[in-house]
Amino acid sequence: MRFEVDEDIVAIRDTIRRFIAKECPPQTVSKWDKEDFIPREYLHRLGDVGLCGLCVPEEYGGSGRNVMAMVVALEELARASSGLASYYCMCAAYAGLNISESGTNEQKAKLLPEIAAGRVSFSYGLSEPNIGADLTSVETRAEREGERITVTGMKRWTSGASQNDYIYALVRSAPAEQRRKNLSFVLIPTKAKGVSITNLSGLGNNGTPLADVVFDRVELSINDIVGGENGWNNAWSVLAGPSLEVEKLAPAAIALGIAEAAFAEAWTYSQERYQGGKHICAHQAVRHVLSEAATQLQACRLMIGHAAWHVQSGQPSATFTSMAKLFVTEKAKEVTLACQQQVMGAYGYAHGFQMERYVRDVLGPTIYGGSSSIQRNNIANLMGLPKE
Ligand SMILES: Cc1cc2nc3c(=O)[nH]c(=O)nc-3n(C[C@H](O)[C@H](O)[C@H](O)COP(=O)(O)OP(=O)(O)OC[C@H]3O[C@@H](n4cnc5c(N)ncnc54)[C@H](O)[C@@H]3O)c2cc1C
Repeated sequence: MRFEVDEDIVAIRDTIRRFIAKECPPQTVSKWDKEDFIPREYLHRLGDVGLCGLCVPEEYGGSGRNVMAMVVALEELARASSGLASYYCMCAAYAGLNISESGTNEQKAKLLPEIAAGRVSFSYGLSEPNIGADLTSVETRAEREGERITVTGMKRWTSGASQNDYIYALVRSAPAEQRRKNLSFVLIPTKAKGVSITNLSGLGNNGTPLADVVFDRVELSINDIVGGENGWNNAWSVLAGPSLEVEKLAPAAIALGIAEAAFAEAWTYSQERYQGGKHICAHQAVRHVLSEAATQLQACRLMIGHAAWHVQSGQPSATFTSMAKLFVTEKAKEVTLACQQQVMGAYGYAHGFQMERYVRDVLGPTIYGGSSSIQRNNIANLMGLPKE
């Protein structure tokens, strides 16, 4: 067992901290939060400093599949803005991994260099009005005639769809009865004829606005199936494949970054606020909240690092990633609320400090990427607990 941090991870943390200090001052982040919009140039700039290629192979302009670095990047970005972290995640992490693992050679050649440069952006169309946890039941249909594919249906909560280039959409491509064998992933350009997008309003994670996306007989070709002919009716193996492990770790890393930021704000505030003849950090109850929070955050970092190491080194990791997703997202919520309620009081509730945004932002990661209840199901199943 070893706990030293590799030099490349230290360098990535430093790069992101410099990037945030220069490009994302609090007033910029507040503007993104208020307008629920992050200009695309920030993805470009993340690409310019080499951060978008962490999950792209070197031959396509990236730095390889570095899961340990990716979770650190997400944590650090989320300390400043969970919206920016989510935007980056969908493009650099999810698209980088998914296209690398499942794309055709043509898709890789076309998209991976652009992903590494931060010049192409993706949303994920899995959920639908009637479909949440049970993705095997998606209702959006893809009908195929030879090389032509027509997509009809609707996706919901498609984060960032109104500002991104492609929707990486899960569609039903064969009869409904064959549940896991009837799914495909298709890449749908958001500007394609028949695509209409309506932004929805959510509580937090602003900057990658939630959206409804309607597909009205959208015409695609076989080249738009992720994986081409091999990807047709084969999405389940992609969904349940190696990328899933990172898709569980990413929300955990984002939640950790938000909670770390909440902790940092409460820590500083406790040394400035004066009540009862002393700074509140001198009151034992406040000291205990901050000590407890620091301890929980340390446990979260270890859970994510341990699970990410297993993914990175190709060890069995599904149980660890589910445990990390469950533990970290739930603990991040507890830590953030404790910092708001028990340290900052009304100043953590009102606009002015960042705390109220952290509270809104930290509520999402327990839901997306497989809810806490779904992770509990996964853990019991993976550990072989009998159902009867
Ligand atoms: C901020 C945010 C961003 C999102 N971005 C995207 C996106 O970009 N793309 C996208 O496709 N989706 C996105 N989603 C949607 C997200 O993936 C879904 O909310 C999630 O899959 C859960 O689906 P649901 O909300 O419909 O809940 P449901 O599946 O209806 O579940 C409702 C409740 O029942 C529980 N439940 C359901 N089934 C089971 C079961 N088998 N066992 C135990 N409990 C169960 C759930 O845990 C949950 O608490 C986003 C959601 C949020 C909050």
